[in-house]
Amino acid sequence: MTKIAVVEGDGIGHEVIPVARKILETLHPEFEYFPVEVGYGKWEQTGCPCADQQITELKTADAVLFGAVTTPPMKDYQSVVLRIRKALDLYANLRPVRGDGFDIMIVRENTEGLYSGIEEFSPDRATTLRVVTRAGSERIVRSAIRLVHQRKGHLTIGHKANVLKSDVLFRDICNSEAQKAGIECNDRFIDALALDLLQHPAAYDVVVTTNIFGDILSDVASFLVGGLGLAPSANIGDRYALFEPVHGSAPDIAGKNIANPIAAIRSAAMLLEYLGDSSGAARIESSINRALDQEGIRTRDLGGSAGTREFGDAVIREICGE
Ligand code: ATP
Ligand code: MG
Repeated sequence: MTKIAVVEGDGIGHEVIPVARKILETLHPEFEYFPVEVGYGKWEQTGCPCADQQITELKTADAVLFGAVTTPPMKDYQSVVLRIRKALDLYANLRPVRGDGFDIMIVRENTEGLYSGIEEFSPDRATTLRVVTRAGSERIVRSAIRLVHQRKGHLTIGHKANVLKSDVLFRDICNSEAQKAGIECNDRFIDALALDLLQHPAAYDVVVTTNIFGDILSDVASFLVGGLGLAPSANIGDRYALFEPVHGSAPDIAGKNIANPIAAIRSAAMLLEYLGDSSGAARIESSINRALDQEGIRTRDLGGSAGTREFGDAVIREICGE
């Protein structure tokens, strides 16, 4: 039996994840869905935002549907997302950016780079170690290359090798793996790439880059598709996978039934794709588009007045009415 762990998390996670779950349940009533509680709310109740118990629960699932968690600016508060990424070794962060005439997949290395966590802090000097390893680079570029094959596309490597030794290693490993795989590949400086991606999105297919560059690049690229409310992501390792909207818990709009659930719904579609149900994923995508275009229903961030739940119901109507 396929088991799906459902993590609402905090803030608008409590609103967008139930909508995405309902859509998954419509397509796959035979899956087992079980909740896992982590986040700031969990910390308030128990003093721990994510305990070993929750990690164990997540590991029993075939895939995790994840909302968003609030990370308060408190010293010693452990980031839940980082903890889960590490425990499940979710080294590839995939962020699709799809729109009129372009279809880009940003593949971000998720475990090392500038987010290595190796840091020193004093009032007058602080350092963060940027770690790039051969093993880490090989596995991320191999994920990217698999996607290039699936999509019959090409690869762009984003780096700053003119300044950073760590990116000389990253770039060279990526280029050499791409050459071995016989795929079309080029590499670009990340700053020039960010601008060009916005100007000529159709020129890109799979883009692979290091941790922080990928983080920034994919948020910037979400501009191409109408903002954060629409952008899904996947975090994939060799054994586990977690699917979450790119946006955070958005406390400013939480609890008002106005958050856009599309990013969460698209994350559910990526989850189905990962589990091998490509046609289910495609049905979700086309139903979102029909709800927007034919029914004309949209949430506030897209200029409409529909609530989170109402938009979700429209998508379910479209799925059932097919
Ligand atoms: P966090 O600290 O959890 O990341 P945040 O305040 O940074 O929370 P984000 O979720 O990253 O908030 O989003 C930034 C802003 O974008 C929010 O303040 C919100 O107004 C808007 N936003 C984010 N997600 C959505 C959504 N699904 N629907 C509508 N607006 C959204
Ligand atoms: Mg944020």
